[in-house]
Amino acid sequence: MLIGVPKEIKNHEYRVGLTPSGVRELAGRGHQVMIQKAAGEAIGLYDEQYLNAGAVLVDTPEEIFAMADMVVKVKEPQPTEYAQLREGQLLFTYLHLAPDPEQTKGLVESGCVAIAYETVIDGKGGLPLLAPMSEVAGRMSIQAGAHALEKAQGGVGLLMGGVPGVAPAEVAIIGGGVVGYNAARIAVGMGAKVTILDRSLSRLNYLDSLFQGRLNTIYSTVDALEEYALKADLVIGAVLIPGAAAPKLVTRDMLKQMKNGAVIVDVAIDQGGCFETSRATTHQDPTYIVDGVVHYCVANMPGGVARTSTFALTNATMPYVLSLADKGYRKALQDDAYLLEGLNVYFHKVTYKAVAEALGYEY
Ligand code: NAD
Repeated sequence: MLIGVPKEIKNHEYRVGLTPSGVRELAGRGHQVMIQKAAGEAIGLYDEQYLNAGAVLVDTPEEIFAMADMVVKVKEPQPTEYAQLREGQLLFTYLHLAPDPEQTKGLVESGCVAIAYETVIDGKGGLPLLAPMSEVAGRMSIQAGAHALEKAQGGVGLLMGGVPGVAPAEVAIIGGGVVGYNAARIAVGMGAKVTILDRSLSRLNYLDSLFQGRLNTIYSTVDALEEYALKADLVIGAVLIPGAAAPKLVTRDMLKQMKNGAVIVDVAIDQGGCFETSRATTHQDPTYIVDGVVHYCVANMPGGVARTSTFALTNATMPYVLSLADKGYRKALQDDAYLLEGLNVYFHKVTYKAVAEALGYEY
């Protein structure tokens, strides 16, 4: 199969759909890979590495969209990209179609076969191609929070782990899923005093046995949220209610009673955020202060560590890319019901129920 990887064109997107190692795997199985020149340059994946791995370099995205059987990307196609997709051409990338009628129309009109990373499932109720980005955001949330606790960033001037004789920071993590667990790993590793709040007892059980007493697990009620948010130096918002906006768990009233110079990192901002005072920020200008509390609410945290994120994402996508390349999409989708869940558009039809319902397509 001929696989093509264009350079991402969304604003400040530096990730790339395949690494040189991925190219080598594909080439080793007899596939051809076209990479747009400089596609990975911004994150230290150079053209020469792709060439050595067996790729052919091309100058423009037009060559890729015109020739490739499968286009592998990171972000949803932009208007100039979906205008070039062809009937029967396979597109494998993040799509997030439900809130995006224009892109959906573009994909449907093109007649392409579009598989969305975010709706592929695994056998355990997880989302294997979203999880790596939650892992990145969870770990990064503590790094960002620790930085914001420094005086120059508006924080109270606190070192996460303290030093011998001086107490560490208190960290409250609301939501103990993929983001929450990864935040806890880093916070515990830095020596902070960590509490995770969740509404799932089985999840709290799991975290308790995993951390062996090195963090507190607390059942999430309004009372508990108030108690732990008010005494925390750093609060991480990491809740998810699938298919719904994040609940506003920390109200403005609660925020007013938090410590002066405390920090919140609202990872759930991409679902609207779980603090009443959250609004989305960017890597260029990541924080603002309300009632003396520093807010970090970057909606695409993994973009800030695009190199790590590229490797994390492509580790997860690679088995599917190989299967699609080896078998062709018909057989690969037939053989794997979990991958089939990723199919959002198929020859002029929307094939994912939630997207069809949200945008009024026949299903
Ligand atoms: P997840 O489903 O693995 O975990 C969510 C957890 O929240 C679950 O354990 C659930 O029981 C818990 N929860 C639900 N309601 C709660 C409540 N009232 N109190 C306490 N806990 C509650 O989801 P995840 O992968 O960890 O993602 C968490 C959030 O982070 C999502 O909104 C996701 O979109 C977002 N995210 C943001 C970025 C970013 O760049 N900002 C990156 C990745 C993920």
